[in-house]
Amino acid sequence: MKYKKIECEVLVVGGGVAGIAASIKAAREGASTVLIEKNSFPGGTGITGLHRFICGLYANTEDVPDKILNKGIASEICFMLQELAPEKIPLRMGKVSVLPFATSNFMSVLRSLSEKEKQLDIYYDTRAVSAKTENNTIVSVTIQNLNKKFDIIPRVVIDCSGDGVIIKLSGARYRTTPPDQRQLSGYTFRVKGLKDVDDIPAVKVPYYLAKAVEQKKMPFYLKYTTFTAGDDEDEGYCKLNIPPAGIMEREKQAKKDALLVHTYLARVLPVFNKSYIVEMSPEVVDREGPRLYGKYTLTANDVINARKFPDGIVKSAWPIELWDQQKGVRYRYLGPGDNYEIPLRCLISKDISNLYCAGRCISVTAEALGSTRVMGTCISLGERAGYGAAHW
Ligand SMILES: Cc1cc2nc3c(=O)[nH]c(=O)nc-3n(C[C@H](O)[C@H](O)[C@H](O)COP(=O)(O)OP(=O)(O)OC[C@H]3O[C@@H](n4cnc5c(N)ncnc54)[C@H](O)[C@@H]3O)c2cc1C
Repeated sequence: MKYKKIECEVLVVGGGVAGIAASIKAAREGASTVLIEKNSFPGGTGITGLHRFICGLYANTEDVPDKILNKGIASEICFMLQELAPEKIPLRMGKVSVLPFATSNFMSVLRSLSEKEKQLDIYYDTRAVSAKTENNTIVSVTIQNLNKKFDIIPRVVIDCSGDGVIIKLSGARYRTTPPDQRQLSGYTFRVKGLKDVDDIPAVKVPYYLAKAVEQKKMPFYLKYTTFTAGDDEDEGYCKLNIPPAGIMEREKQAKKDALLVHTYLARVLPVFNKSYIVEMSPEVVDREGPRLYGKYTLTANDVINARKFPDGIVKSAWPIELWDQQKGVRYRYLGPGDNYEIPLRCLISKDISNLYCAGRCISVTAEALGSTRVMGTCISLGERAGYGAAHW
């Protein structure tokens, strides 16, 4: 069967934060760019995971206002978010700072930045379904929108799918962690109707859920649930940290877990008594997926020792944050004021000549991914991949 063909210089697959930044940058560098995204909106995990904070933007110092580590699109996004919500200023969380945001503002910033690029064509509700590779080069990618299929003929492809879709379809090598050692995935629900919310639910929610687990009232992993206050006084977010694999129909199971947690909290914690769920994540979101086999693989030692590289393109000071299936979360921090660099080689496939990656699926060890995967870093990785691909 013959499909309609679309030629472009840069094809970006996945419109999460990495893909949006990659496509904007490639287009700004003058490359005819196509972005495809399977959802009907931009932002990927940052939106479907109901995230509240952009992590990985700032230097690891006590400077006020916090210094942005990577200028460019990350700074533009911060500036636009702060214009929309001046009250949302960087917040100190333990030893690092984060930028709070409202989901709707984040989505509209990503849309308005990308939609004004003349060299960029965006296809939502469209997924990459196959790729043809000849002589270690991707020659075409077939995409599907409802029942229609098209062939994209790109010069370069950037895989920003988080799940390594193009890495796998093109036959490039990649690494994965065995399912039982993978980091916990996430599923969030938003509640309204809370009474007298202060910082205490953040402490009490895990405490009470740990007790319920001890009494065998719920599966053990639900004790890793966290609580964050929302924008309105009566609002809050509960983030469940759940096993990443092994469960068929995991959305169904996650929803059941969310209802179990909420019903229990409404019974034991007065602040939750009259609360009701107003929103749930549309899907379970993964911290870990396939990682490219790139020209360099960043390690935990590189991160912790604040290593710099001649081809370092993105800086990060975010700790290694590991959500272990048995032990919950552990942090390994860099020294005060330190940051490490991610070399360009982590974004380039060792096997496929015209394949770049950005965001979650770059070439790093599972431990290093605990630091590189946060959104602030993914935005800048996307931007640098977009630049590299446009000039390939
Ligand atoms: C539970 C949890 C909590 C987190 N909390 C935070 C936090 O508070 N702050 C923070 O900064 N980071 C957080 N992170 C990390 C962060 O959200 C992600 O690592 C980051 O958003 C990844 O961005 P990305 O662009 O690489 O990938 P994604 O956001 O996963 O985007 C990939 C995009 O590709 C699309 N796609 C997939 N397959 C296809 C296909 N075949 N065709 C077309 N499109 C496709 C997807 O729909 C998606 O939009 C968290 C992660 C998890 C799992």
